[in-house]
Amino acid sequence: MQDILNEIAKEMMAIKDKGKVASYIPSLANVDINQFAISVSLCNGEHYHAGCANTLFSIQSISKVFTLTLALGKLGENVWHRVGREPSGDPFNSIVQLEHEHGKPRNPFINAGAIAVADLIMQGHEPKETLAEILQFIHYISNDDSILIDEEVAKSELATGSRNASLAHFMASFGHFINPVDKVLGTYFHHCSIAMSTKNLANAGLFLANNGIHPSSGYPVVSSERAKRINALMLTCGHYDGSGEFAFRVGLPGKSGVGGGILAIAPGKASIAVWSPGLDIIGNSKLGTKALELLAEKTSWSVFAK
Ligand code: GLU
Repeated sequence: MQDILNEIAKEMMAIKDKGKVASYIPSLANVDINQFAISVSLCNGEHYHAGCANTLFSIQSISKVFTLTLALGKLGENVWHRVGREPSGDPFNSIVQLEHEHGKPRNPFINAGAIAVADLIMQGHEPKETLAEILQFIHYISNDDSILIDEEVAKSELATGSRNASLAHFMASFGHFINPVDKVLGTYFHHCSIAMSTKNLANAGLFLANNGIHPSSGYPVVSSERAKRINALMLTCGHYDGSGEFAFRVGLPGKSGVGGGILAIAPGKASIAVWSPGLDIIGNSKLGTKALELLAEKTSWSVFAK
């Protein structure tokens, strides 16, 4: 595995066209595009890394996997009254479908859906308390208590978040919101601003690769049924309007973020995190996707073949 990761990292470093870093906020626009990291945490307890696997980056929409997990834990199947489970085929921040579908977002991984999930997990609590709960959960599943929210990123998200605010207010206009819209947005912007390394992320995803069980403690984070469902959503909706392409090329459930990270799950085998800040036109990490494609090829990991 170490040889495979070294090879992939070397190959990625040599590629000239690395895509474009997200430019909507300075803290993402200023990230050095030449960085690359890959981490693989195997279900048998082994860990492998290549590149700058300890460097922290903004996990952005990858956080939506963790907030969905929390929401399902708190509300169970009732989550699906607020958000759907269908791929959107639209960009991550699209407002178009919301009007047709009466304020019910297509899935929990597009922005509108994740904002609705943030509303669900708050349950009348203040954003600070909810964020503490999200962080505590991430600390536990990553085995790392040092993971924090990057306040600089959160501030910029808030300052440039007109589209997300529009999505939230539009949903609220249908009478769906439980908590004040501003507080929900504050929670959403902050959980998107959590900073993690690929090492952290690969560990955090392990329960999804391991039938819902946290491997080092043996504690069931979610039931195996639920882990399977979260993986299914990652596969069908984890890359916005690039989800079909990702499934075709990589063949594993994955969730991307505009910070350039991708968390991918090889059920029964491993949790994989990659980071390369340059994005393709849809907003998914260009080299991250390529690296996962290579890894899947070299390991024969796929949910579509044995
Ligand atoms: N914070 C970003 C936004 O809401 C998340 C988008 C992403 O990572 O895809 O615009």
